[in-house]
Parts: sequence; C-alpha cells; structure tokens
Amino acid sequence: MIDKTDLSDSCSYGNMGMIVPSHFVPLAMPGMIAQGIKWMFNSRSPFYVKPSLNMDLISWGLKFVKSATEKNVEQSAIPLRDINLLSKLLYEEMSIKPGFDFALEKKGIMMYFKTEKVAEEEIHLAHKAQSLGLDAEPLTKQQAQELEPAIELDIAGAVHYRCDAHLYPNKLIPQLINHLKNAGVKFEINDPAEKIITENNTIKKVVTKNGSYEADTVVMAGGSWLSQLTKMAGVTIPLMPGKGYSFMQSNPDKQLNIPSIFCEARVAVTPMNGSIRYGGTMEIAPVNNKINMKRVEGIVNAVPKYFSNVKLDLPDEKNIWYGFRPCTPDGVPYVGRSKKINNLLIAGGHAMSGLSLGPASGKLIAELANGEQTSMDIKAFDPERFS
Ligand SMILES: Cc1cc2nc3c(=O)[nH]c(=O)nc-3n(C[C@H](O)[C@H](O)[C@H](O)COP(=O)(O)OP(=O)(O)OC[C@H]3O[C@@H](n4cnc5c(N)ncnc54)[C@H](O)[C@@H]3O)c2cc1C
Repeated sequence: MIDKTDLSDSCSYGNMGMIVPSHFVPLAMPGMIAQGIKWMFNSRSPFYVKPSLNMDLISWGLKFVKSATEKNVEQSAIPLRDINLLSKLLYEEMSIKPGFDFALEKKGIMMYFKTEKVAEEEIHLAHKAQSLGLDAEPLTKQQAQELEPAIELDIAGAVHYRCDAHLYPNKLIPQLINHLKNAGVKFEINDPAEKIITENNTIKKVVTKNGSYEADTVVMAGGSWLSQLTKMAGVTIPLMPGKGYSFMQSNPDKQLNIPSIFCEARVAVTPMNGSIRYGGTMEIAPVNNKINMKRVEGIVNAVPKYFSNVKLDLPDEKNIWYGFRPCTPDGVPYVGRSKKINNLLIAGGHAMSGLSLGPASGKLIAELANGEQTSMDIKAFDPERFS
C-alpha cells in the first residue's frame, strides 16, 4: 500500500458518513446543466464549476454535458443500486468483526424539501426507489416531525430512505488501516508514486519518491488524483475533483436523530459521536487548498431554513475540513480491469458516494485480482468507457 500522505487525512475522513443505496441517480442527469448554470452566479450556491481554460476541465465538462441524459439515469440506476446494497451488506458484516467499531447505525436518511417543485421531484424519485425494491417512504411534515422530536422542522415534507445507514468515518479509516497492518499488509507512506514503467502493455515497476516496486497486479485507487496515476501508465480516464466542506458542532443543544439532506440547499447533516457534522458544496475545479468562506456561509445559512430552532455560527476557518470528491463525467464510478494495461486494476471516481461504495469496490477489485467471478455485473463501471 503506497500513499503520498501519512494517511491521517483524505476525502475518506471528513465526509458525511452516509451509506446511500438511495443515491441511484448519478450527478449527470437532465436538468443539472440548467440548474448548474443558475448556481454559478451565486457565490453561496452548493454547486460551482470554476470557469477555466484547463483542458482536462473542458474535456470533462463536455463529457458531463453529453452524459446528463435520461438514458444515463436509466442505465445507471441498477448498477448503482446493486453496488450500494452490496457495500451496505459488507459494512454490516465488517461492523461485527473484532477490531471494528465505527458506529454503524441503520436509521436511514431523511430528504427534506420545502418547495412544491422539489416535493414533486423527490416523491417521484421515492416511487422510483420503491420500484427498484428500496425501502423509501414519503412522509408528511407531521410524520417527519415525530421522528425528529428535538428539532423544529420547517419543511413541506420528507422522504425517509430507510434503506440507508450511516457511520463515523474518522473511526472507520484508522480501524481499516490497523486491520490491514494486522493482516500483514506493508504500508509505504509519505511516498508519492511518480513514474510507472511499462513493457508490453504490462506495468513492470511503480517508481516512487523513495523507491521502486514490482507487483503481479497494480491497483490504482488515487481518489481525485486517479487520472494522474493512470496517465503515468498511458491510460486516460476523465476525472475532476469536486471540492466539498464539512465542520463539526460539538455538544449541540438540539440532538438530531436521523442524518438529513436539505434538498434545495444540497446540505447534509449527520449526527456523529455525540456531535453533529454539517457538510456540502461541490466546486468542480483542479485541486486547490483555498477555503471559500462564502460557500461555508451557504451551508450555515441553510440550516435554520430547515431546522428552525437550530442556530449555527460560522465556524473558524481552522475548524473547516475540505476534501475532493473524485467525479467522473457520467457520475458512475470506475471499477475494473484496464483493457490497455494487462496487470492494472482501477478503483475510484465514486464522487459523492465513495464512503458508501468502498467495501464493494474493494471486494470487486479483489475478485478481479484473484481471477474470480465478480459478485455483480461491473460492465457499467468500465474505467476506459470514455476512450
Ligand atoms: C463534504 C463531503 C461529504 C461527503 N459525504 C459522503 C457521504 O456521506 N457518503 C459517501 O459515500 N461519500 C461521501 N463523500 C465522498 C467520499 O468522501 C469520497 O468519494 C471518497 O472519500 C473517495 O475515496 P477515495 O479513496 O477514492 O479517495 P481519497 O480518500 O482521497 O484517497 C485517495 C488516496 O490516494 C492517494 N494518492 C493520490 N495520488 C497519489 C500518488 N501519486 N501516490 C501515492 N498516493 C497517492 C492520496 O494521498 C489519498 O490518500 C463526501 C465527500 C465530501 C467532500
């Protein structure tokens, strides 16, 4: 296991911890382009594509526009549902193994909406979820309020996705690292991969800052840097980082029962370890370490619009976490074997669902590495589908 950092932070730590079979609709969907353009003129909006002459961004954007179709939504629904359900099952199995205690809770998630237009869309989606066999139920404001006694809901209604779950990522990741170390996996940390040497369409060596490594099979799982890694082996996959922010509210005076998503504001709220984590925004732009306080303000301002008795102060910049969601142009992850390089397996591009989809992606990659039948059909996840 080679990583360029010391593994104490990455996109997999500060995320909202939601396990989401409910997310069977990819980001690239009809209506997203028009909505995205409107949001681009609002500095506090939850979605933003940074205008730039960066060729990777332009090429990614064109592919995104081409993918935002009803056909993409239809084709992706079953593979996204299945990989999510497989992952949830694996989390359930993992949570009872010795060495794991990552606060897995199966209360589902709530989608809250305020406007008629979004109510219509969300209820339609809930019916679609039901037709896919997922446990989802539209609720009136009163029914939702009964499930959330401490919070005053200012909403038109809700959908309760009981099929979803949540966990505490900051506990999960160190436990996974320990588990692997105990199983004999060697970690090379603070050691970026810098060059890949190939011969006859096979990776011969991975050259890092501190050494070089040979392997029968190489798995690339580099998050938002995945396309840079594959490029070293001559494989082009389109991917852009989607920056998001989160912050914790310790000792909240109003306890939240069920993780929630504010649909219009695209803000997520998750109870975690006695605290509450707030998160959101999606800034599509090359990796950068700037914290845009206007977008954080957008998250803070959305909260009392849905939870009217919750007042949140703007957090100090030093307490704001950010991470880069690895986004594919069609909103479907890359999990599979490279057709171009024989011994290369690729796992990434999980965008808003990487915490959810980690276990299933790992299992599928392990099955491919061992030459076994995969647990599900992975055609939709072909990493070279844009080549
Ligand atoms: C605000 C926010 C909220 C989110 N909420 C949720 C949620 O509720 N549920 C959910 O399922 N998902 C959520 N996500 C998405 C999820 O966090 C990501 O999809 C997931 O963490 C991506 O995991 P990854 O392993 O692909 O990338 P990362 O966790 O970023 O890991 C990639 C690793 O690759 C390493 N690397 C890169 N380049 C090199 C190199 N050259 N050499 C060596 N190492 C390298 C990096 O150092 C890093 O450790 C959220 C994301 C954000 C930003």
